[in-house]
Amino acid sequence: MKNALVLGAGGFIGGHLVNRLKKEGFWVRGVDLKTNEYGNNHSDDFVLGDLRDPAFCDTLFDRQFDHVYQLAADMGGAGYIFTGDHDADVMHNSALINLNIVHLCQKNQVERVFYSSSACIYPEYNQLDPDNPECSEASAYPAAPDSEYGWEKLFSERLYLSYARNYGLKVRIARFHNIFGPCGTWKGGKEKAPAAICRKVVEAEENGVIEIWGDGLQTRSFLYIEECLEGVRRLMESDFEGPVNIGSDEMVTINQLAEMTIALSGKNITIRNIPGPTGVRGRNSDNKLIQEKLGWKPDWPLQKGMASTFSWIMQQAMKS
Ligand code: NAD
Repeated sequence: MKNALVLGAGGFIGGHLVNRLKKEGFWVRGVDLKTNEYGNNHSDDFVLGDLRDPAFCDTLFDRQFDHVYQLAADMGGAGYIFTGDHDADVMHNSALINLNIVHLCQKNQVERVFYSSSACIYPEYNQLDPDNPECSEASAYPAAPDSEYGWEKLFSERLYLSYARNYGLKVRIARFHNIFGPCGTWKGGKEKAPAAICRKVVEAEENGVIEIWGDGLQTRSFLYIEECLEGVRRLMESDFEGPVNIGSDEMVTINQLAEMTIALSGKNITIRNIPGPTGVRGRNSDNKLIQEKLGWKPDWPLQKGMASTFSWIMQQAMKS
């Protein structure tokens, strides 16, 4: 039986990844500062602790791990990352986690390690035109991410790649583009656009109004969690190191995402665009490289994932 260590297992993607690995027959140890607030905690062993602490990290490697999945990061949606108020914490906390983990993976001869980077590493200058953003993997340099979160991700990509070069550590790096789905943060300030919009629509009265940050014409793509995990597992089993985009190439404006969600609710709701943090003007996953290297790319329609996310958030809202 293969062993996996999932760091950030109390989070959204980590919680789902544990389930996926369990289904595939792995023995899984999850680690996080917190358990998953929606009960998505199904690892064989769950350790609560702070991955910024090297002594704590050391205790996690008391057995030989085949796979380490490093998903832990200090992160949130636009309200958390783009206001600038959390820059020092974001950089300090996530860099410490990655410095500790890459070193321990090499020291303990982990068979391979997955690192979750982000589309936020792509230069702002390529994402000014909402209709034609450029996010091919090679376009990451000359680097100019629009947030400190993106800079930390880029630094950590390079950190993992340098361990691969100098110590032969097998690393796999994906740049996730806006992953969404059930059991993700949907309120409190760290939620991202799909969940925030679902919540606003659920809470809105018939003939009500929802507020959307910016002019709503900024574009993005959103990838449903199941396809994200399919991409992670395929990458991990492949010979390709990455970095590679794991994202959808179905680009929509934020207002279109809101309209799709309103249609799912069946309510009559108006969108009001208000000033707020929005990030880059346009972003879409370029899936040529993943198709070429893995012979696969995500292809579920956005609407399918939004329907299941909307109904999960509706249930959560009714409970609270
Ligand atoms: P999440 O915030 O739900 O999960 C991250 C987890 O890391 C949290 O549960 C948090 O408690 C944990 N964590 C943070 N600091 C820690 C520490 N010091 N010690 C132990 N645990 C700590 O985020 P997610 O959406 O599941 O994202 C997982 C990874 O994927 C992150 O690295 C994120 O940057 C990356 N990513 C996510 C998206 C997305 O759209 N969700 C997009 C790009 C990249």
